[in-house]
Amino acid sequence: MPSKSANLKRSARSPRAKAPRALSGTVFITRQVHFNSAHRLHNPTKSQAWNTRQYGLCTNPHWHGHNYVLEVTLRGQPDPVTGYIVDLGELKRILHVAVVDKCDHRNLNTDVDFLRDVIPSTENLVIAFWHEIEPHIKAGKLHCVRLYETPRNFAEFFGPEARPA
Ligand SMILES: [Zn+2]
Repeated sequence: MPSKSANLKRSARSPRAKAPRALSGTVFITRQVHFNSAHRLHNPTKSQAWNTRQYGLCTNPHWHGHNYVLEVTLRGQPDPVTGYIVDLGELKRILHVAVVDKCDHRNLNTDVDFLRDVIPSTENLVIAFWHEIEPHIKAGKLHCVRLYETPRNFAEFFGPEARPA
């Protein structure tokens, strides 16, 4: 229950203000961020010949880099007061703290704690990124983590509970 003085203040500010009309519906909203990282696809339990057969140039011991594009989609209903599911500035901040600050200009095989001993394929990265991002999401629900390794190659993860195909 707002206090009398708060009511007075509000009516003093906008005497004839009408509450905005709230629209309901499930909306998917996406923020895109970029980072550059080096990596190498390599399974240390296999021979170099196996790794070369499997990964070709991507197993080059001297690493190679990608300009990654990460797109993260949240699902929710717009808040009737703000019209937002989430402030996209806040989602950007979360993506930087959870992923970009840890991966940008780093070597994904050696420099990133949460990727230790993981083969940094696009498939594995979207799963790992989901687990880093999800605990920060307070408004809306995390729906999809999509990572472009190149403009033509990307992977998507819809969460550990998504049904297998
Ligand atoms: Zn690569």
